[in-house]
Amino acid sequence: MAQDIHSHDEVADAVSELIRRTDPAAADLLDAERARQQSTLELIASENHVSPAVMHAMGTCLTNKYAEGYPGARYYGGCEFHDKVETLAQERAKQLFGCGFANVQPHSGAQANASVFLGLLSPGDTFASLVLADGGHLSHGLKVNMSGKWFNPVHYPLHYDANSPEFERIDYDAVRRVCLEHKPKLLMCGYSAYPRVIDFAKFRQIADECGALLMADIAHIAGLVAAGEHPSPFPHAHVVTTTTHKTLRGPRGGLIMTSDEEISKKINRALFPGMQGGPLMHVILSKVVAFGEALKPEFKQYAKQVIANAKSLAKALTERGFRITTGGTDNHLMLVDLRTRDAELTGADAEQWLERAGIITNKNGVPQDPRPPKQTSGLRLGTPAVTTRGLSVDDMTRVADWIDMTIEGGGDAGVCAQVRGEVEQFCERYPLG
Ligand SMILES: *Cc1c(COP(=O)(O)O)cnc(C)c1O
Repeated sequence: MAQDIHSHDEVADAVSELIRRTDPAAADLLDAERARQQSTLELIASENHVSPAVMHAMGTCLTNKYAEGYPGARYYGGCEFHDKVETLAQERAKQLFGCGFANVQPHSGAQANASVFLGLLSPGDTFASLVLADGGHLSHGLKVNMSGKWFNPVHYPLHYDANSPEFERIDYDAVRRVCLEHKPKLLMCGYSAYPRVIDFAKFRQIADECGALLMADIAHIAGLVAAGEHPSPFPHAHVVTTTTHKTLRGPRGGLIMTSDEEISKKINRALFPGMQGGPLMHVILSKVVAFGEALKPEFKQYAKQVIANAKSLAKALTERGFRITTGGTDNHLMLVDLRTRDAELTGADAEQWLERAGIITNKNGVPQDPRPPKQTSGLRLGTPAVTTRGLSVDDMTRVADWIDMTIEGGGDAGVCAQVRGEVEQFCERYPLG
């Protein structure tokens, strides 16, 4: 950190002032958003607060450059330092995840996934993924997404037997059954709302049995994997995709990795020129910085704390009468089934009430949710952002109390305002920098 030169706040103030000189409207919006982030608790499981170095690496002159192609093979001159930046990002990604090849150019996780589809599948090919409403991602076969429109998704369910100790967890027998029946070319694992450990070795066994390639999308858990706090998809998965902005705490972007040279060549061609044009080199500089941070011992501590905080929050909410799906969490997130507190309560209402109270969450379907995605019966909560901020396992009990009070208040304006006041005061103790 550069505290001895400038605090994060001073740099952010300077940036805002600079923008204000030419564009007051943009500066007003920037300042308002900064104030919102400072004064609220961020419990969205896919979000985080990046370090000053990660943030400001994005606001640099590397955005000025076209660097279509790959290091050493560009379509434009002047790429001497861009080659070095991208190579360093690749090297750090490989070191962080223990693999042979890394493509750091995907603009986002969805683009990373689409590039894998373009590189390894043909239109109409069958692939297998989790029932999307049970915790999957739209890029895993949603009908209106390219993956569902131009390919043929088949889905495996979770364990739906409420009496089973495996209730709401991955049903590996069902994965095998679906794969043997449909013979997918690609088997996907990795999810957006799954609170338990993924057994990549088991998935590989099934992939081998049915002749599929195994793809692990670790968008959510990448930071935990990098820190050794969740088992690694390597050497089991043939290809691994991720975002860089969730638990990994880097800039908004994507990453594709493999240890298979043939697969890496196919994916590189699919990504550019197949899927994208020029890479976002300023973002890739920021990926360099983020990967460097994730390689440090402090990041392991961070990942451990993320999980400890999630377990603490899940426990405290359970004690307050909320049902957590699967009975708890192994990672950074949990799904709260609101129906046990109030059969009528929807995720949409709870999200709105909590936002009024300064607690930012997202409505989320629970497995086999009878309600549509715009209502849902659940909330997804995650601890990556509040842990970055410095909140402890004990703080999670206070957070659970505020959630409890707000839900108990049924959206009452007075209750929301009271919690909002307490949250705001609490947030002042944890400045964002
Ligand atoms: C977040 C996420 C993505 C993609 O994210 P982008 O918004 O496109 O960056 C892909 N897969 C999973 C499982 C995710 O959770």
